[in-house]
Parts: sequence; C-alpha cells; structure tokens
Amino acid sequence: MKRRKLLSASAVGVAALTGCASDATGRDPARAAFSVARPMLPVVGTSEMFPIRRIYCIGRNYAAHAREMGHDPDREPPFFFTKPADAIVICADPANPTKVAYPSATKNLHHEMELVVALKSGGTDIPVDKALDHVFGYAVGLDMTRRDLQNQAKDMGRPWDMGKGFDQSAPIGEIFPASKIGHPAKGTIQLDVNGKTRQKSDLNALIWSVPETISYLSGLVALAAGDLIYTGTPDGVAAVVKGDTLAGFVDGCGTVTCTLV
Ligand code: MN
Repeated sequence: MKRRKLLSASAVGVAALTGCASDATGRDPARAAFSVARPMLPVVGTSEMFPIRRIYCIGRNYAAHAREMGHDPDREPPFFFTKPADAIVICADPANPTKVAYPSATKNLHHEMELVVALKSGGTDIPVDKALDHVFGYAVGLDMTRRDLQNQAKDMGRPWDMGKGFDQSAPIGEIFPASKIGHPAKGTIQLDVNGKTRQKSDLNALIWSVPETISYLSGLVALAAGDLIYTGTPDGVAAVVKGDTLAGFVDGCGTVTCTLV
C-alpha cells in the first residue's frame, strides 16, 4: 500500500510506469536533445513490432540447473536480475544465423536457453490467476552469461550486472502472439551448439510457472507493457567460443539462431 502511494505521488514515477517521456520541470519532452532508438522485436505473422521496455530474468528456475550450479532447488524462492533493453539481438532466421559479437572481458561465455514472456500490460501485486491476461506473446531467447565475471561477483558479494547485462547478451527470436499460440505450459526447450544438443528439457519442468513468475515479480516491481521476462534455463549450460553456432527452439514459440564472431 505504502509503495502504491509513493508511486502515485511522484510525477516522475508515474511517467516511468506509463512509459511517457516527461519530467517534473514542465519542459516539452519533444525537445529531447537527441533521439535514442527503442529496441523492438518483430511479431510473427504481422508487420508490427513489439517495443521493449525492460528485460527481467529469473535465476535457477529448472531444478536440474539449480543443482548443476550447486544449489538446492526446493528451498529457494525465485530471484531476479535485469538486462538493458538494448542487450537484445534479433536472431530469428534459422537458415541465416545472426552474427553476435563474442564479448570482451571473459574467457568463459556460457549459453542459457530460455522461454521469454512478452507483456502487453502489467501492474503491481498481480494475482496468479490473472497473470496470463497481461501476456502479449512468447519468444525464444539466450541469456548469454560471462560466467567468470558472474562467479567472481558471487564470490565477492558484488552485483551480477557485468556478468549478465553486457552488450548483445540477449539474442532472441520473433514474438509469437498468445492470441495465435495460447500459453504454453509444456513442450520441448532445446539448444544445439554446432549441431550437438547441449540443453534439452520441457517447459513443464519450470519450478515457478509463467503465471507464478509474473505474479511474484509484480510484487517486487511494477510490470508494464513492453517488459520481457526470461524464464530460466534448463541444465547443460556450458562455454561457447568464437565460430560456434547456437540454435535453439521451444515448441510452438520459434527459434533463436546465432553465430559468435
Ligand atoms: Mn538465465
């Protein structure tokens, strides 16, 4: 309750929630000193683009992956981190892998294959049984991770941002509207590297389902149209190097295909 009052009392807060460019000074937002591109994703079967507001990612949401990272999946509530919206790279053509730059400052770049949820609306404290009403559609994405920087941050009690939120850290396919495909709760999620399967599981192995994830996250932050939520990765995460081609899919939700250069 307190949080709601705080947000509604703040013009800047409200502007941030609605995505409006505005400020408390009364200046004309059309007079921005320069323009900044808003990252967008193509929507399958339409000429529309999905504008991206924020990217949230959930950690350790498949039991087998939590175990491979040395954690007990049964005792942990969900936790989240973020990536910048412009970390996305559109990698939607399996016949023509998009070139993605191998990032600086790492010797241990890992793939994490994930189902991505795209929101058309949001709010705070969304009940689980209303959560899917806010979903625009689904995509398939890679949560690329500089594992050495992430592990160093974990060891030192520092933030994960530079391990997770670097340039081009979020290769992703097109958005498949829920109006066409529904809300997948099961189906294969798989990633092949250079033709060999590295990660394979089923969406029904998610510890926190999509509605539960949306509901829980909306208790931490106000969700809104344009938000993407990476829903976590199955076990099998491992290093990739320059020249590797990563090809992933989730049944009914498209593909993500890229080559590291
Ligand atoms: Mn992840």
